[in-house]
Amino acid sequence: MQRDRRRAPVLAATAVVAALAAVALAANLRLAPAAPAGTGSAVAATVSASASGIDSPTAASPSTSPSPSPTPSSASPSASAPATAPPAGVAAPTSAAGFAFRKTVVPMAFPLSSKARYRYTNDFLIRRDGIVRWYNHAFSVNPDGSLHRAHDGVDIYAARGTVVLSPFDGTVVDPATLWRPWDRARYGGTVVVRSDEPTSRGYLALLVHLGRLDVAVGDRVVRSQRVGTVGNTGNAAGVPFHLHFELRAPFALTVREAGRRRQLDAFDPYPSLVAADPHRR
Ligand SMILES: [Zn+2]
Repeated sequence: MQRDRRRAPVLAATAVVAALAAVALAANLRLAPAAPAGTGSAVAATVSASASGIDSPTAASPSTSPSPSPTPSSASPSASAPATAPPAGVAAPTSAAGFAFRKTVVPMAFPLSSKARYRYTNDFLIRRDGIVRWYNHAFSVNPDGSLHRAHDGVDIYAARGTVVLSPFDGTVVDPATLWRPWDRARYGGTVVVRSDEPTSRGYLALLVHLGRLDVAVGDRVVRSQRVGTVGNTGNAAGVPFHLHFELRAPFALTVREAGRRRQLDAFDPYPSLVAADPHRR
């Protein structure tokens, strides 16, 4: 029962197109008046490149295809960059204008393999303890006037050692150069990938509390490439093993929280995770 291996990615792409179209409509954005076939093929290139785990023999491939060999059209990382511009409405916003802090979906690959067992809920902005850096969200104001911290990401619970994958084609960057002072004691083993994909250029994915790091700052990575494993480093010691996942925008977002106006880059990653989740929670 050897199915055409191109069929699964195309079906997945169809679902992605439908989901993205719904998001675009919700955001009151117009899809480009391109023929549906053109729209589908542009997205299909992205999906098939992300699903094949190409160029990464160590990657746990999330492919739904019965064959691990890449299709001719997705044999290189550049296949994830469509030759034509992505349809309007599919790409993540390039400025704070039109950005929906809790709803914007950034096209990406899920950070764990579809074969992994994991669970998560939207725990973005729940109350957390610890110092509130300028780059951390605030939950409330303490009696002494200081800010109480909120959770900047979503925790994806999975077994220790579960392989963690890059959500983007991009470059591994050092968080300590972007968010100073970087709180190493809190984050532990961390990989930050800056996307250079046309639909999410400049967006940053933070993969936190890793037990092992398989890439280094400056490395070029592709979607679904293995970058590390789930651990409990940083302040995750003593709690169930999980991947702390954050998305940060390449521009400041103005939020009103704890009675103040603050400017941060961390936004709700849950809609993007759900859109990318192969199990479609
Ligand atoms: Zn967390």
